[in-house]
Amino acid sequence: MDALEQFRLQTREWLEANCPESMRGPVPSMDEHYWGGRNVAFKSEDQKAWFESMRDKNWIAPSWPEKYGGAGLSTAEVAVLKEEMKSIEARPAHINLGIWMACPAIMEFGSEEQKLKYLPMTARGEIRWCQGYSEPGAGSDLAGLQTKAVRDGDDFIINGSKIWTSYADESDYIYCLVRTNQDAPKREGITFLVFDMASEGVSTQTIELTNGDSHFCQTFFDNVRVPVANVIGEIDKGWTVAKRVLELERAMMSDIEESAARHEDSPSKLAKEYIGLDGEGKIADRILRDRIAQNAMNTEAFDATMARVYEEFAASDPLAGMAMMIAKYQGTEEDKRKYQLIMDILGNKSLGWEGEQFSDGELRMSKQHFLTYAHTIAGGTSEVQLNIIAKRVLGLPD
Ligand SMILES: Cc1cc2nc3c(=O)[nH]c(=O)nc-3n(C[C@H](O)[C@H](O)[C@H](O)COP(=O)(O)OP(=O)(O)OC[C@H]3O[C@@H](n4cnc5c(N)ncnc54)[C@H](O)[C@@H]3O)c2cc1C
Repeated sequence: MDALEQFRLQTREWLEANCPESMRGPVPSMDEHYWGGRNVAFKSEDQKAWFESMRDKNWIAPSWPEKYGGAGLSTAEVAVLKEEMKSIEARPAHINLGIWMACPAIMEFGSEEQKLKYLPMTARGEIRWCQGYSEPGAGSDLAGLQTKAVRDGDDFIINGSKIWTSYADESDYIYCLVRTNQDAPKREGITFLVFDMASEGVSTQTIELTNGDSHFCQTFFDNVRVPVANVIGEIDKGWTVAKRVLELERAMMSDIEESAARHEDSPSKLAKEYIGLDGEGKIADRILRDRIAQNAMNTEAFDATMARVYEEFAASDPLAGMAMMIAKYQGTEEDKRKYQLIMDILGNKSLGWEGEQFSDGELRMSKQHFLTYAHTIAGGTSEVQLNIIAKRVLGLPD
């Protein structure tokens, strides 16, 4: 038996012994995940046990080197771990923007001292991260950001505001883009900084959404003092780090949803239940049947492509970043079409918001339908993705 096969068997055995039954199966909502950090409580004893087992095994960030809190697993071993977790539908033990974005950026662009400071505490789930990119006047045109950082000895003094900062009010650290040079061309005067959200002068205000949720914040910086030592990469060269993080964000968006309950939402299964079958045993509505088949084919093709892209990404193939841009556009748009299809299948049971006439599943799918629109905006809107694909992937002229 080769070493990888041995690793698979040991992993399977370990997961079987350590992943509680209630931590298997789709996660009903993002709030049910364990996000870690200073302020977050576990939802159950099983969730705590599952997180602690994974943390103690250094499998929260399994590919990171051991000195940074990881387990030093190879790409092939990480793939095996993922496959084995998937086969028992194990939920992620911990979700954190730090694992997907901030720390990989620190690993690539940070100093050894920064790696030793931030990575282990993130891998142990002690700090939760948020992303300070978008501003009221800078979303798609991110490089137009105006949050200012002015040098004062060994510190920067930060003033300005970020918007749509997901979970800023519950996070411990922020990775943030600030303008450090007013005179340079706009992409050349930006710096990538990390700092503690408990710093004096940081405040957040939640933004209530139409469905009553408020995971978004506007984040304000009022003379926040941040050591220059917190710059990741070089001063004024943060755009390079920022772009890498955006690639990682697009990868994360497909990853984070992998375990979501929405994978249970199968248009063909739902059509059998809500539309019924004709005399030949086919879904009784010909047009819906055609859309269901199209969705199934697109999903299969997308999953197969993503499996390839992940391997290329892990091997730092430069083409993988480009493929990820296409994947983000295609994945989120297909997901939106899937839920439009599901709404049509549900008929008069679709678009329910509350009330006993709707089942829990129908209410959840209606909310998911609206969320799919948000996913075509977060991490770069579809229109902007198409511009990027046209210019940077296909090389078309401006
Ligand atoms: C669920 C969710 C979570 C988010 N979390 C965070 C977070 O944690 N941190 C953070 O910093 N930000 C976050 N964002 C913000 C997100 O990055 C921005 O919403 C996004 O980049 C778009 O910016 P904007 O909202 O300012 O829209 P705008 O840039 O004002 O765009 C408005 C419309 O104009 C279109 N448009 C703009 N420019 C062009 C162009 N050149 N060509 C064609 N069409 C164009 C856009 O496609 C869009 O339809 C989140 C957003 C969502 C939806």
